[in-house]
Amino acid sequence: MDHFAYRSRSLYCENIPVAQLAERYGTPLYIYSKATLVHHLHQIQEAFKEVEPLICYSVKTNGNVALCKVMAEHGSGFDVTSGGELHRALLAGGKGEKIVFAGVGKTDAEFRYALDNNVSLFNVESEQELHALGHVAKSMGKVASVALRVNPDLPPKTHAKTDTSVKGVKFGLDIETVLDVAKGILGNPGVKVIGLHMHLGSPILSAEPYRMGVAKALDLIARLREQGHPISVMNMGGGFGIHYRKQEAQPAKAFAEVIVPAVKQAKCKLVLEPGRFVVGNAGLLLSRVIYTKESGGKHFIIQDAAMNDLIRPTLYDSFHRVWPAEPSAEFPNLPEDYEMDVPGGLKVDVVGPVCESGDFLAKGRSLPPMKRGDLLATFSAGAYGMSMSSNYNSRVRAAEVLVDGETSKLIRRRETYQDLVGPELEAMALPN
Ligand SMILES: *Cc1c(COP(=O)(O)O)cnc(C)c1O
Repeated sequence: MDHFAYRSRSLYCENIPVAQLAERYGTPLYIYSKATLVHHLHQIQEAFKEVEPLICYSVKTNGNVALCKVMAEHGSGFDVTSGGELHRALLAGGKGEKIVFAGVGKTDAEFRYALDNNVSLFNVESEQELHALGHVAKSMGKVASVALRVNPDLPPKTHAKTDTSVKGVKFGLDIETVLDVAKGILGNPGVKVIGLHMHLGSPILSAEPYRMGVAKALDLIARLREQGHPISVMNMGGGFGIHYRKQEAQPAKAFAEVIVPAVKQAKCKLVLEPGRFVVGNAGLLLSRVIYTKESGGKHFIIQDAAMNDLIRPTLYDSFHRVWPAEPSAEFPNLPEDYEMDVPGGLKVDVVGPVCESGDFLAKGRSLPPMKRGDLLATFSAGAYGMSMSSNYNSRVRAAEVLVDGETSKLIRRRETYQDLVGPELEAMALPN
């Protein structure tokens, strides 16, 4: 469910035509629907409410401060993977007791920043990290609460670049060694191991990997308790998939059905770290056609959004639905199936201005013929879109706007050329 829909051949975000937003804020433009964002957070809150989980929105998915504020206002905590993300979470009103800190390479400075702000849980991913955290915490007169992140070594379940729970990836502690590591930290005054963490990868379109994951978690929790660790937290990470092509994703309750019974059995507090599920379908990327051309027997639509704005298609071979924001009358408002030929359509590659052959949003899609100035929507771009954007080719980052009913609010202004060179000019002005 989302709040992007066509009315009289014009795409709306909630009650505003996206064409109006393009006029007002320019393109490329990330457009978010507040109602969609809140709806998806509620779906998770509802599905898991029996165990009163701590839901920590994954800031890396889309860390815009205004969006994070909406999350905090609706009861979410935050999952951060760096000091920078922690800064965003705190700015958005996040409180340390509802923030968890993940990542394989946390530095001492990040530990201090997090401990100063009373971050409630560190998801620790290596033996060295565990001891470094203990050292920093002790020096501050604190005790850090830790969930050991384990790599449960499950069969492949998603794209190799985003599968985090197969043997040989850098994430987590090896399931064979985690108990030895846990034993070695007993009695350390700086850390208290209170939980187990698993983030299986993303996006996951079936509850089955979670079923396998919780079985391993239950076993490990029992063994950690036997060692004397007071385990009270089970953190199952994020990873819930969304609709990118059709209706391929599972509802939150499908995941709850396998996770909730395990949490009850373990008598633990559940932590979840959803990202994509919450914000993915709450955002689209709106762009304007600059040129069309034919080359080598192929048709190209060259529009003003590029791989620096949305890198998922080239980085992960991801599929995003694309369709004109104002399709002409001979064409459907939206096709039944984005991978099929539409009658009267033209097979095109949708590309951007960046100097790379890998700069595309979609390849070989059948689209209504488009011309200069037409608006194109790339759907399901709310997650890992803006947060993975860059300035490659010295392109300024897109603006972001949040729609709430009839009102729109700019939540990140478009960057300027001054933004591009500012840090360089500042450095050049410093004495040697
Ligand atoms: C990226 C990440 C998440 C969020 O994943 P989604 O698939 O967006 O829900 C949660 N936890 C950790 C540790 C992550 O790295």
